[in-house]
Amino acid sequence: MRILPEVIKNLFRKPFTHKYPYQPIVLPHGFRGDFSWDREKCVFCEECERICPVGAIRVDRGDVKKFEVDMGKCIFCAECEKACPKDAIRLEEKITPVEIERSRTIRKLQ
Ligand code: SF4
Ligand code: SF4
Repeated sequence: MRILPEVIKNLFRKPFTHKYPYQPIVLPHGFRGDFSWDREKCVFCEECERICPVGAIRVDRGDVKKFEVDMGKCIFCAECEKACPKDAIRLEEKITPVEIERSRTIRKLQ
């Protein structure tokens, strides 16, 4: 019966959860979210690919330069952002869109 006061108290409390995406949420400052990459700044040095602990980044510095990030693997540690000598990577303060199919988590950035 000790649980009864707790139950009654919680009936009148606001919920701890947010109804996202139906209600907007305020993200805390420094939130590591959606991945952005700036081709103009990138020098294809591959430092981000080397430092990524989960192998989510692929840099191809061949004739046709390419940059890919697999958001299905990314753990949002921001090591790539810190390591980039050109400030080309940002983990934005916004939520990453969810992909249902595994094959669609790889972003080929240009
Ligand atoms: S570390 Fe920065 S400059 Fe180097 S390949 Fe990655 S994004 Fe480009
Ligand atoms: S945030 Fe971390 S896990 Fe994600 S791509 Fe960068 S280094 Fe890799």
